[in-house]
Amino acid sequence: MHISLNKFTKRFGDNTVIDELDLEITSGEMIALLGPSGCGKSTTLFAICGIHQINDGSILFGDRDVTHTNAQSRNVGVVFQNYALYPHMSIFDNIAFPLTVRKLDKKTIKHEVEAIADLVHISELLERKPAQLSGGQQQRVALARALIRKPDVLLMDEPLANLDAKLRLEMRSEIRRIQLETGITAVLVTHDQVEAMSMCDRIAIMNDGKILQIATPTDMYSNPQSDFVAGFLGNPP
Ligand code: ADP
Ligand code: MG
Repeated sequence: MHISLNKFTKRFGDNTVIDELDLEITSGEMIALLGPSGCGKSTTLFAICGIHQINDGSILFGDRDVTHTNAQSRNVGVVFQNYALYPHMSIFDNIAFPLTVRKLDKKTIKHEVEAIADLVHISELLERKPAQLSGGQQQRVALARALIRKPDVLLMDEPLANLDAKLRLEMRSEIRRIQLETGITAVLVTHDQVEAMSMCDRIAIMNDGKILQIATPTDMYSNPQSDFVAGFLGNPP
């Protein structure tokens, strides 16, 4: 699904956090919103998600103007750094949750959960509880739950931040594999330039509520158009 943000503006009180931001997200791409802490990445993601209402501008999903709709009426899948799985439910029930609240029949639910579990490689874990899984496995479950409704867009906010270094590497390539296999449009919020460069088709570098440059990883690296971009890419934390 192609997504457009047109002069998107967000204020908290009289603090303008995002000021007339334009962004075109192409159908089927995975794009990173990359920038330092506090630059407005999550605010932008929440606006696409519909968690935040925006103060000005518009948001389109394809031809549909979703500016004044809420998160429930947009078909988005969301993954955050804290996996927010339901601890008392089995993995199966966690993944099935978005379908059970829609009262789909049991056979369809079972079929859908098994297909998505296969995609994210957790078929053998469906009877367990979240506490019995590793961080990487829990993040796979969170991805499965986000994808089960076949959302128009997959929105991820620092999805790897809570993982140790080894799992983070593994999940970088896994998330990219899953995105490519499903062909879903995806937005990855991160402050980690290596993550953005290794996972995404394009990177939007943000600072202070603005997008400074949008480019493919290679173009961004070889042709940074400002000192900020060059410095940000050149100094891994
Ligand atoms: P990032 O995700 O890039 O770290 P955020 O989008 O979370 O940045 O925040 C951007 C700015 O908006 C920050 O200055 C932050 O303090 C402010 N902000 C974010 N959420 C709120 C909120 N609910 N109320 C007030 N200010 C907020
Ligand atoms: Mg954030």
